[in-house]
Amino acid sequence: MLNAVEQGVGRTGEPAPLLSVVMPIYNEQEALPLTVRRLRPILDGLGITYEVVGIDDGSTDATPALMQKIHQDWPEFRIVRFARNSGHQAALTAGIHRAFGDYVVSIDADLQDPPEKIPEMLSLARERDLDIVYGVRGDRGTDTIFKRRTAGAYYWLMRKLVGKKMPNQAGDFRLLSRAAVDALKAMPEHQPVYRLLVPWLGFPSGEVVYVREERVAGSTHYPLSKMVRLAVDSVTNFSASPLRLATWLGLLSFVLCFALGVYTVVAYALDKTVPGWSSLFIGMLFLGAVQLFCMGLLGEYVGRIYSAAQARPAYFVGYDSAEGTDPATARRSASYTG
Ligand code: UDP
Ligand code: MG
Repeated sequence: MLNAVEQGVGRTGEPAPLLSVVMPIYNEQEALPLTVRRLRPILDGLGITYEVVGIDDGSTDATPALMQKIHQDWPEFRIVRFARNSGHQAALTAGIHRAFGDYVVSIDADLQDPPEKIPEMLSLARERDLDIVYGVRGDRGTDTIFKRRTAGAYYWLMRKLVGKKMPNQAGDFRLLSRAAVDALKAMPEHQPVYRLLVPWLGFPSGEVVYVREERVAGSTHYPLSKMVRLAVDSVTNFSASPLRLATWLGLLSFVLCFALGVYTVVAYALDKTVPGWSSLFIGMLFLGAVQLFCMGLLGEYVGRIYSAAQARPAYFVGYDSAEGTDPATARRSASYTG
């Protein structure tokens, strides 16, 4: 259920800003000051009302204190703090749900997405009346070969699942209109994968090409395990094809078993049976593997049904500077990060 702030009606007196910049931040004590230094003049230069929604995803370094300081001398910088680390996608969800702006841009905190492209995205959306403007990575030269290969495989698979609507190499740097944001907020999904859900909306969209820069400081928080998680979430969120794959595999193994059965009967009838444990062993291994694989696939979906039935929230907000400074709340969130 959405609270007043999530519905965008929580601010008294102030009209909603035109632009919200949503930024998931997790242990970015080195990168954040540099990001703010580069982002602020660009947003100030736009001459429009804006807010920056910094989602502190349960940072354990100096990031929370740093964000407080930034908030003090940059009133447009809003802080939403999670009580614990909930992941990049959950932080994005919170930001998109809580942003007040008519346009919402999501951007990483490590300057890999150049903030200079924000004005370009905004003017494209306003001129052509677009609901979505994707930031498309023109060049991944600064990423490691491993990152480029895994990302390439990921986008290939996703385009197969979602179809050509999904722009190639479009990550989470994008602009959404209020209409697109409202449509996304109406989705019942618990763990939305926006890079698939947004193209799925099919709203009028445009693209802005940018060069993926090197992380300005610190190191990536996306180890292989999180990348695999994102890929599995993406597939199971969007398609039942893996289940169909299990059915086909089951069918194939059935045909093979049948052929083997016929062969065995014929061999028996011709009195040619030899104590061949190898064929039995191979058959057993093969069937065991197929069964395990199918069970694994089913398990993926059963797991999702389970977590949806539990209806656990994807994140917990400890404190939101836009909700006023209730000391009890502030103290509670302080103790979370301490
Ligand atoms: N991030 C987050 N929670 C996490 C991991 C990352 O909010 O658990 C943020 C991080 O601070 C950054 C963005 O998500 O702003 C992208 O993360 P990162 O740069 O580590 O990923 P990469 O660019 O290497 O894929
Ligand atoms: Mg990064």
